[in-house]
Amino acid sequence: MLRLDQDIKYLQGVGPARADLLGRELAIKTVGDLLAYYPYKHIDRTHFFRIADINGTMPYVQIVGEILSFEDFGEGRKKRLVAHFSDGTGVIDLVWFQGVKYIAKQYDLHRPYIVFGRPQPFKGRLNIAHPEMEEAPSGSPEWGMSEGVQQALFDEGIALPPPPLGGVGGGFAFRPHYHTTEVMKKRGMGSAQVARLTAKLLEMLDQPLPETLPQWLIDRFHFISHDEAVRTIHYPASADALRRAQARLKFEELFFVQLNIVRYAHDRARKHSGIVFQHVGQTFNDFYFNHLPFPLTGAQKRVIREIRADMGSGRQMNRLLQGDVGSGKTLVALMCALIAIDNGYQACIMAPTEILAEQHVETLRKLLGDMPVTVELLTGSVKGRRRTEVLNGLVTGTTHIAVGTHALIENNVQFAHLGLAIIDEQHRFGVAQRAKMWQKSLTPPHVLVMTATPIPRTLAMTLYGDLDVSVIDELPPGRKPIETIHQFDSHRATLYAGMRRQLQLGRQIYVVYPLIKESEKIDLKNLEDGYEQICEAFPDCQVSKVHGQMKPAEKDAEMQRFSSGETQILVATTVIEVGVNVPNASVMVIENAERFGLSQLHQLRGRVGRGADQSFCILVTKTKLSDDTRRRIQIMVDSTDGFEIAEQDLKLRGPGDLEGTQQSGMAFDLKIANLAKDGIILQMARDAAQEIVGSDPDGQNPVNAVLWQRLRELRKTNINWGSIS
Ligand code: ADP
Ligand code: MG
Repeated sequence: MLRLDQDIKYLQGVGPARADLLGRELAIKTVGDLLAYYPYKHIDRTHFFRIADINGTMPYVQIVGEILSFEDFGEGRKKRLVAHFSDGTGVIDLVWFQGVKYIAKQYDLHRPYIVFGRPQPFKGRLNIAHPEMEEAPSGSPEWGMSEGVQQALFDEGIALPPPPLGGVGGGFAFRPHYHTTEVMKKRGMGSAQVARLTAKLLEMLDQPLPETLPQWLIDRFHFISHDEAVRTIHYPASADALRRAQARLKFEELFFVQLNIVRYAHDRARKHSGIVFQHVGQTFNDFYFNHLPFPLTGAQKRVIREIRADMGSGRQMNRLLQGDVGSGKTLVALMCALIAIDNGYQACIMAPTEILAEQHVETLRKLLGDMPVTVELLTGSVKGRRRTEVLNGLVTGTTHIAVGTHALIENNVQFAHLGLAIIDEQHRFGVAQRAKMWQKSLTPPHVLVMTATPIPRTLAMTLYGDLDVSVIDELPPGRKPIETIHQFDSHRATLYAGMRRQLQLGRQIYVVYPLIKESEKIDLKNLEDGYEQICEAFPDCQVSKVHGQMKPAEKDAEMQRFSSGETQILVATTVIEVGVNVPNASVMVIENAERFGLSQLHQLRGRVGRGADQSFCILVTKTKLSDDTRRRIQIMVDSTDGFEIAEQDLKLRGPGDLEGTQQSGMAFDLKIANLAKDGIILQMARDAAQEIVGSDPDGQNPVNAVLWQRLRELRKTNINWGSIS
């Protein structure tokens, strides 16, 4: 009998060397791991194309024919090998840039091969780079290369039998394709070899794989069994069967992620009774009636109500506050802090950068005016006696609101009675840091995380699935939508003319350059060059320059000059991305816009449009753009809706690249589900998870036993799952 936890090296055809490779490269250590290594696509290998019918827009083609001759091009690293390949209807070039030396030896001239790959036009001809090749089964008369037979086959519409796959799985129309790594390929372990192993393994599985979902859930959604789904996902008999297997496995995957999160949030709520903020008192009311500089927007009022209800409920609040840039989250944060103060507690606000923390302190103090509420700053730059004083204020309780950076969560920072921890721009902080806030108080404080990076719903459900969500979906009145313009960098004169007009109207301008960590020197050079160009083009303007390698004090001084209006143009890297607030700045020029992610462009754009004037965002790019980049820029031009942009970004780039997902520590190594595409299945999975935890919180119901068993197994194998908070 074959056990799923059996070491992969004992599987026939593997052995120690390959087992080592599979383990290191793909984390496949057991037979079960291999079964759960799903193919990323299937190709219908029953269909063959005639070379004469192929064009450069086809995704993948399979052809059968022979190599007429080999030809070498280039020298050294530029070397490439071309095989002229023909099926009698035409010639196509097969090209290799790597392994050039042994390819020519590996394949024979005038011998039938099946070639599979993606045709691309190149200099008026078609070629297939790094094709998959295998010998066409010789011996069978159909595979003779005589033109007559070929022609007859093609005319039939071609239903050649798929070539046998090491004797197994050959009867299937769809062939699985598995991701492998360069290292594996170099050592002769490509997709075809993995396919051979999965075929072998499935053949050897002499009993059904254990079911992972309770029968009632399977029935409800008309799912196929786990066993059938796993077998089918590797070797489907039809497109329809493949879809059913995908649906079942995607659901299963998302469901257990959700079950883990929902169960966790439920346990946490039971374990920690929250501090109860019973009343709204003097401080809040004094602020609301006497100090509020403008009426709250409807959305601000609503979220304050939601937060207040949560903090008074007796359970610990864990809430995500989403609101587009400029939607007025700071004011909401302050008013929530005032509720904490009214109930005898302190509050703290953690920001991702020193500049932002300082700006918050300034904003809060200004808003509070002469109210008896103390706000103190704690960052790495607060040193010596000042630091001792601040720490003292926190531990004795004379400081009501602490605003700072990571410095706030250092071990030596103690509060007298912290009741509310607010984390601004959450996407910059990891889960671990969020959890650290908890330890600042005997009873964990209420936690409010705020983000201006709109997170697509599907992502939020997974990333922050344990949090309740409030959304500020309304901007303060009187904001004119920012006009976004795409401009090529070859049209600099037009760009500068536009900038000049705005400067003459008395406005200020940001010019931002991308910052990419790998090449800080180059980035800095770009910035310096840009700075000089701007100084030359605008000789009668004062120009500020800010970048990440400046000392915080210098940076601040320069920001201050811009913010006070002393300088008219600020040339900067993305350090200004978060928080900076200069209402008179109405133009945001983003250089090399093609190098930014959509969410980041949106954040930058949010720096303008804060005053009453019409604001502009100019996305400057090079002239030659890929289709993908062109599409991304167009989305920015068309939309100012952060959520829509985030959704599009998720679709274009996938969740792994979205800001914040890397630090999140959450399970993003989804094997089969795709957060960008499987929103409906995700919702089904979450609803089911909530239903189960709600009705059977202690896992008592025997019909669900299989679920908790499975969850325990997954928790053991997935390190990320233990650490969500
Ligand atoms: P963000 O949500 O991006 O943190 P801020 O809190 O910095 O936004 O607010 C952006 C600007 O909007 C600030 O200048 C703030 O004073 C202003 N603002 C906030 N709420 C309102 C309101 N209800 N009416 C008018 N202006 C507001
Ligand atoms: Mg903010």
